[in-house]
Amino acid sequence: MATIKKITAREILDSRGIPTLEATVVLSSGLSATASVPSGASSGEYEALDLRDGDKKRYRGHGVLKAVNKVKEIIAPALVGKEVADQMVIDQKMIELDGTKNKKNLGTNSTLAVSMACARAAALESKQELFSYLGEAFAFESPRIPTPMFNIFNGGKHADTNLDFQEFLIIPKAANVHEMIRMGAEICYELAHVLRESGYDTDTGELGGYAPELDSTIEALELIMAASIRAGYKPGKNVHLGIDIGSTILYDKDKGKYVFLLDQAFFSASSLIGLYIEWLNKFPISYIEDGIAHNDWMSWGELTAEMGKDLMIAGDEIFGTNINRLRQGLKEKAANTIIIKPNQAGTLTETVACIKLAQKHGYKVVISHRSGETNDDFIADLAVACGADFLKAGSLNRGERISKYNRLTAIADILK
Ligand code: PGA
Ligand code: ZN
Repeated sequence: MATIKKITAREILDSRGIPTLEATVVLSSGLSATASVPSGASSGEYEALDLRDGDKKRYRGHGVLKAVNKVKEIIAPALVGKEVADQMVIDQKMIELDGTKNKKNLGTNSTLAVSMACARAAALESKQELFSYLGEAFAFESPRIPTPMFNIFNGGKHADTNLDFQEFLIIPKAANVHEMIRMGAEICYELAHVLRESGYDTDTGELGGYAPELDSTIEALELIMAASIRAGYKPGKNVHLGIDIGSTILYDKDKGKYVFLLDQAFFSASSLIGLYIEWLNKFPISYIEDGIAHNDWMSWGELTAEMGKDLMIAGDEIFGTNINRLRQGLKEKAANTIIIKPNQAGTLTETVACIKLAQKHGYKVVISHRSGETNDDFIADLAVACGADFLKAGSLNRGERISKYNRLTAIADILK
């Protein structure tokens, strides 16, 4: 194998026009590979931190020149000369160099970009597809194409709309991923028609989903049902619905209640669970993400005990792809599904540790994009390599979302 000869980094822009980091690894063989990292909007308390400049004169403080320098001055000198195929050694070195629990020092943007670029370079060097290389490097059993989950209504922090919920998703059921993607796209076309007919606009949010000003939360579910039927698919049979409440920001500590402005409603945790049960009786919902705020383990346990047999109870902010949080969640029987966002962890090795622990305990795994994305399609390969159940990469428009779905079909063709 080849050794690392040089590592460089650059400040680039993400899909929101906010700076992010791209790293390039050059090998002794002359081959090189580049990777770029995403960044979130609803960044939870337990996830690793991006290092940002804070210099208000540049990009309102969002610049990443400090992170670029960390790569050039601290990470690169420590990794040059190492075998590029020793992914775990590389990641461990960066974890040590950072020396904090949340990558506060080097920034998850710099460590993850280098971690991904090394994996991509090693895959090139070994003449393997990235997903095969990752599967081997991290000793996963066999590659599997995940089911895509499409976020077709954007709300919460991801769009300028009155929707309190962060995401409304469709989860297609079909024989192969090409068909699933076709279904998703066709439902999106119909949803645009249904929206226009109902007098709503078809502007989209940061993840590509529609973002109209609706009359109620339940209307979003009704519109998706109507669009699915008009596209020729039977809700509950060919397509299921999912919701990401993103409930942490809806929780008002002083009132001790979840506040839904659109519906002018206030809920305690247990009445909120009651509402989910009511919806489950009316709609073919198979997935609820962040249904409870991230510090209320007890209500998470209640939600999973009540509904976990019938559907996926998924944790994003509550876990933050943080293995210690997942360990606690397992103890509390808090969920049965985990969202994995590599930049919440900071290196591939830490991301994979979280995936493996979740899989060992029978959790479903959802590999996810972030709201600020680049065209890098790395997570599609990661999802296939680890045998994830789902890939959540936004709606069926916007290049940075589509790049992941297109890569998924490319991998499916390779595996055929
Ligand atoms: P984020 O959310 O803004 O926290 O990255 C994106 C998502 O969960 O789809
Ligand atoms: Zn989420």
